[in-house]
Amino acid sequence: MFFEIFSKKFFNVLLNNPSEYDTIIVSFILKGEIFMNQHTRFNLPICLAVEEDAFYHSDEIVKRYIPDIIGQKAIIISEEFLIGIYKDKIMDIRRSFGDAEVIAMKAASFDEAVSIAKRVCVEDVKVIIGIGGGRVLDTAKYAAHISKAVYICMPTSLSNDSLASPFSVLETYGKARKTFACKIPTAIIVDTNMIINAPEGQTLSGIGDTIAKHTALFDWKLSASKTNSRVDDFAYALSRMSYDSVYHCDEKDMKSRVFIRILSRALVMGGLAMEIAGSSRPCSGSEHLFAHAIEEYYPDVKISHGLAVALGSIPACIFQGQSPQGLLDFFRTYKLDIDPRSYGITEDMFADIWDKARTVRTGRITILDDITPDRVQLNEIYSRMVEGK
Ligand SMILES: [Zn+2]
Repeated sequence: MFFEIFSKKFFNVLLNNPSEYDTIIVSFILKGEIFMNQHTRFNLPICLAVEEDAFYHSDEIVKRYIPDIIGQKAIIISEEFLIGIYKDKIMDIRRSFGDAEVIAMKAASFDEAVSIAKRVCVEDVKVIIGIGGGRVLDTAKYAAHISKAVYICMPTSLSNDSLASPFSVLETYGKARKTFACKIPTAIIVDTNMIINAPEGQTLSGIGDTIAKHTALFDWKLSASKTNSRVDDFAYALSRMSYDSVYHCDEKDMKSRVFIRILSRALVMGGLAMEIAGSSRPCSGSEHLFAHAIEEYYPDVKISHGLAVALGSIPACIFQGQSPQGLLDFFRTYKLDIDPRSYGITEDMFADIWDKARTVRTGRITILDDITPDRVQLNEIYSRMVEGK
C-alpha cells in the first residue's frame, strides 16, 4: 500500500515537472530496517532549437515550448560590439519580448553578473536572454542563476561547451577567473546561419572542446578506479556520444548546416553530461589541466579555451598510452592548427606548462598523477605537434 501511494506520488512529480527529476529519497521502513535509495538531482533544458534563422523567430520557438513566459518582463544581455554587428537581429528579438531592455555588459565578471541579477530582482524581470559568445553566456547564465530568472541562451558562436553546462567561468579579482556552479539554461536557441557566419576560429574552438572528451573520459575512469567512486553511466554515454558525433561525422565542411547542427548538439550534450554527473569530469581531464595552466601562468598566450584543450589532448593521449594518430588525422582534416609555435608556445614553455598542469587543480586525479614525462619525451611530443603527425 505504501509503495503504491509512493509510486503515484513519484510519477505525479515526473508528469508535472518533466524537466526536473527532483531528489528522491525513498525510505522503506520494513521490519524496523531502513533502506535508502537516493537518486541524484539534475535539470534539463526545456527547449533545444537548432534552426536556420532561429533568431528571427525566437518568440515563436519560446511560445512553442514555454508559452507562459511570453509577455513577461525580459532583458537582453550582450556586448557592445555584438550589438553593433547583429543590430537587426537583436532589435527583432527585443521587439518580440515586449521591448526588452538591451544591456551591453562591460566585463565577464562575478560583479557584473551580480549587478545584473540585482537589477533583475529589483525591477521584477522574469526572463534573461543572453546573446553572444562564451563571455556573455557565462555572465547571463550566472545572473539568471542568482536571480532565479528564466534563462534563454542564444549563442552567436560555438566556441566551447559552457553553452549548456552547469558552470560559469567569471573574473573575480582583476583578471583572475573562477568556475562557479549554476543552473543550466531553460532554453537554448541556435541560429545555424549565425554560426556559419561566425569567425572560423570560434567553431574550431568548439570542435577542440568536443574532441577533448576522448582523453577526459579516460581520466574520469582512471580517477574513479583509484578513488573507488562511480562513473555515472549516462553522463559517460552522453559525453562519449558528443565526441563520437563530431569525430565520426561524415560532413567535413565546417560551414555546412549539417555540421553546425551536429556540433551544437554535441556541445549541448557535453553540458548535460556535466549536469547529470554533477561535475565537469565527463568533459575535463588532463588536457583541460594543460589549458588551465596556460590561462593561469601564461595569460599572454593568445589561444582560445577549445584550441588549448585540443593542443593538450595530443600529449594527454600519449601519456594515457593511447595512440594520438586518430586525433592528429582529425585535426588535420579540419585544419585545426596544433603547432604550439602558432600560439607562441616554445619548447621550454610547453614543458613548464605540463609541469604546472599537475598542480593547477588539486584533487583532480588524471593520468598526470601516474606519470612524470621527462624532457626528452616532451620535446619529442612537441616536435610531433609542430609537424602535425
Ligand atoms: Zn572545456
